[in-house]
Amino acid sequence: MGSILQAPSVKQSVIVVGSGLAGLSAASELVARNVPVVILERQAKPGGNSIKASSGINGVPTRFQPPGLDSLQHFLDDTINSVSSSVMSTMTETRRSLISTLTSSSASAINWLVDEKGVDLSRVAQLGGHSHARTHRGAGQTPPGASIITTLLSQLKANPLVELQINTTVTKVLTSQGEVIGVESQQGGNVQTLHGPVVFATGGFAGDSTGALTRYRPDLHGYPSTNEALPGSQDLLSEIGAQLLDMDQVQVHPTGFIDPKDPSKTTKFLAAEALRGEGGILLRRGKRFVDELQTRKVVTEAITAQPPSTTEGTKQWDIVLLLDEKTYQSTKSHVDFYLWKGLMQKKTISELDHSDVVLETLEQYSDIVQGKETDALGRKSFGNWALREPKPDTVVYVGNVTPVVHYTMGGVLFTPDAEVLDADGKAIDGLWVAGEITGGIHGANRLGGSSLLECVVFGRIAGRNAARYVETTSDKR
Ligand SMILES: Cc1cc2nc3c(=O)[nH]c(=O)nc-3n(C[C@H](O)[C@H](O)[C@H](O)COP(=O)(O)OP(=O)(O)OC[C@H]3O[C@@H](n4cnc5c(N)ncnc54)[C@H](O)[C@@H]3O)c2cc1C
Repeated sequence: MGSILQAPSVKQSVIVVGSGLAGLSAASELVARNVPVVILERQAKPGGNSIKASSGINGVPTRFQPPGLDSLQHFLDDTINSVSSSVMSTMTETRRSLISTLTSSSASAINWLVDEKGVDLSRVAQLGGHSHARTHRGAGQTPPGASIITTLLSQLKANPLVELQINTTVTKVLTSQGEVIGVESQQGGNVQTLHGPVVFATGGFAGDSTGALTRYRPDLHGYPSTNEALPGSQDLLSEIGAQLLDMDQVQVHPTGFIDPKDPSKTTKFLAAEALRGEGGILLRRGKRFVDELQTRKVVTEAITAQPPSTTEGTKQWDIVLLLDEKTYQSTKSHVDFYLWKGLMQKKTISELDHSDVVLETLEQYSDIVQGKETDALGRKSFGNWALREPKPDTVVYVGNVTPVVHYTMGGVLFTPDAEVLDADGKAIDGLWVAGEITGGIHGANRLGGSSLLECVVFGRIAGRNAARYVETTSDKR
């Protein structure tokens, strides 16, 4: 059964597709300009993958950073390095303008969240690939994704200009004479047509392991993911002429937890990078095999160099992440959660598989940490590792991990004004995009903390421009 709905309001409503950080940032800017919003979300629980973000959001310069060290130029340079020179050599001007908007708007993104929305982002950390500490999170236990999303969502839900429809999947973008005029969606068995300008913020396709991921990266077919196992929605925009860019650029994270209760589950919890940074080591059949502090790419390649142990169609590897007592203490808030979830276990060395080999590995590793030997694998920094004399009854903390598809850098080609470009390089009227659905910012590698940032920066731009569009088109009526 079909129905045509028009949100009752003086001003035309803007349709925001997706309730992750990009969609909620756009919606917040729209209602701040008195423009009504209908948010369409296919899942029962709003927040998308954004709500899972655990490390933080980048911003430069901010009052939370150590004074005088970082600069916009450093952030710009780090981002361009991360994109890689080969990717940067194509569409260079487009990429430069997007990256420049991202970095130069980053301080105002943090200030907006902190000062206008009331989110605590007072702690900063330095993540891999960054030359300075610039990734912001709160001082408390709540991870940054959850605290940002719950704050924006509760403010939007309290606003009478906002209508949030959950369990509603957009299946088609409607156009007339080259202009986007609305969307068709499904809720249960009902088809609904909604008219209005559209902000598309549907995220990436890292969880779409048998669909878009297989199409663009057949080598990653069957990989588990940190994202929800749902289809990507990029095709809905390519169907109306949007250009796609960098679709084969996919970030694989080396360590997602294999849950012993459900080893073949396709969606996995991320084993935070901090576990290795603070001292954790990786073992294959009881032996170390890589400098654990290498980039995500190098560590992943060292793991996947050996054949996988495919479990019920999920392509995964048997790697153990091991922490000593001191490393556990320094990552307690993370690890206590993983222990509670059953993703890590507290065990003695004698209780581990290949326990004799593990004991030998740890004896040798403690000599390396004490400087008695150099590490043949090249690790030079050992975090908080303090175990000096491992014995069979020494307590360690372990979890099984495997590489997981984490983020898709490619997506819809767009402009610094969050407009979508068609094959002729012309902006499609009535449509804006933001967040992981877009391509062109991260190239070969996304810097940690820069995806929450792109959601806020381009989500806000999309919201402001959609609001302006509503004002202009209603003036003409
Ligand atoms: C475990 C984890 C940790 C992370 N940690 C960080 C971090 O610390 N810092 C950082 O910067 N980034 C981090 N990221 C990446 C970051 O969270 C995401 O890239 C970003 O949040 C994407 O936001 P988004 O709004 O574009 O998409 P999402 O948050 O994924 O939201 C998209 C929404 O659109 C909905 N949707 C999709 N298609 C349709 C459709 N057809 N109809 C209706 N609804 C639809 C989806 O259900 C979803 O709710 C992390 C990611 C994961 C998975």
